Amino acid sequence: MVKKMGNCAIVGINWGDEGKGRMVDLLTQDYDVVVRYQGGGNAGHTVINEFGKFALHLLPSGIFRQGVVNILGNGVALDPENLWKEMQEVQAQGVALTPDNLKISDRASLLMPWHRDLDGLEEARLADKKFGSTKQGIAPFYADKFSKKTVLAGELLYPEHLKAHLQDLLEWKNLTLTRVYGAEPVTMADLEKWLNDYCEKIKPYICDTGVFLRDAQAQGKKILFEAQLGALRDLDYGIHPYTTSSNPIAAYAPVGSGMPNVKIDEVVGVVKAYSSCVGEGPFTCELFGEEADKLREAGFEYGAKTGRPRRVGPIDIVATRYGVRCQGATNIALTKMDVMGYMERIPVCVQYEVNGEKTDEFPFPCLLNDAKPVIEYLEGWQCDISGIRNWEDLPEAAKRYVEYIEEKIGCHIGYVSVGPERDSIILR
Ligand code: GDP
Repeated sequence: MVKKMGNCAIVGINWGDEGKGRMVDLLTQDYDVVVRYQGGGNAGHTVINEFGKFALHLLPSGIFRQGVVNILGNGVALDPENLWKEMQEVQAQGVALTPDNLKISDRASLLMPWHRDLDGLEEARLADKKFGSTKQGIAPFYADKFSKKTVLAGELLYPEHLKAHLQDLLEWKNLTLTRVYGAEPVTMADLEKWLNDYCEKIKPYICDTGVFLRDAQAQGKKILFEAQLGALRDLDYGIHPYTTSSNPIAAYAPVGSGMPNVKIDEVVGVVKAYSSCVGEGPFTCELFGEEADKLREAGFEYGAKTGRPRRVGPIDIVATRYGVRCQGATNIALTKMDVMGYMERIPVCVQYEVNGEKTDEFPFPCLLNDAKPVIEYLEGWQCDISGIRNWEDLPEAAKRYVEYIEEKIGCHIGYVSVGPERDSIILR
């Protein structure tokens, strides 16, 4: 039912939690390979299908499809502990994982036990200036990756070399743990336990995924690139410093997947019919009080990883248009349209006002603190649309809402999602 495309990236346009997992799960029916190219276990992709309901953190969302090869690319923060736990959970629900359908890049860096410790220690030091980290060690991990102070997954296959490398890193990292934060040092025995409990378990899945992808490409296989979070959390283009520590934008997919030469034909940008945001930082269109509570409840906006209540607001045209441009989106999936059914009139943030001036441009990060939303209202449809599968059958007001957003953000909306299940989708 879904149009066959070439190589395709599925990415978030906003602050994350747009429903990417749900779209990857749907679109993988037409793909042979799914690659996660950045991020770690600090967010969750919710997928509901015949196996049940899952909050995937690291595993690619194509893992449920028979015949699809899932790859964790070199750009991800590979946390052996979390990955192994997640693999066990998924397997317990009847999903088969083998080195044939799950492959881990030998060039992916390992998230070490001390990265999680450092995340917690730093958030505690920041106290009320904290960033709202999920404390999964992602920022310390990427800082170390760029300092070349991480272990590559492939090193697990060379034990003698690994031991010497770990010893060097341990000495260096203990300086930070003990002298900067006054914490307990990590011992080699701690690391050996970690190697044994988690790294050994994922070892059979590690290989040169670059060669696999090159061969897959040569054989004309279709490759899907899966991102985590969204454009506004991009390290370079997002709401610095309230971003993540990697690049969720599609332009990073070739680098982080292990195919630096690949051309991505389609970029499906996922946008929610309203806005949500987890953690600290500016969120211009934020709603408060009763209005926010109603929307949060209607959309069940609680973090997939942390259970934290998400901040919510109307769809933000300024931020979404910016996200569409950063992602180079060629098609948009608008999700959670069914959630809006209770609204008599639907607020839309159409512009920002910054220092008394109205603007269509997404402001420089530090100006966001002073940005105020300019709100317009569209007529609501006030009915349940979750059972609708054809565009023609949508109420006129719902069609107008989609067309309005499409025109404002400058990108075709090809998918309208009306429920979390795989088939709750309207194609346009
Ligand atoms: P992701 O990280 O972008 O995959 O998004 P999350 O999984 O964090 O959040 C999306 C949430 O919305 C999940 O609970 C999905 O099951 C749910 N969801 C996705 N699309 C729809 C939709 O069209 N309607 C409804 N009601 N829920 C949806």
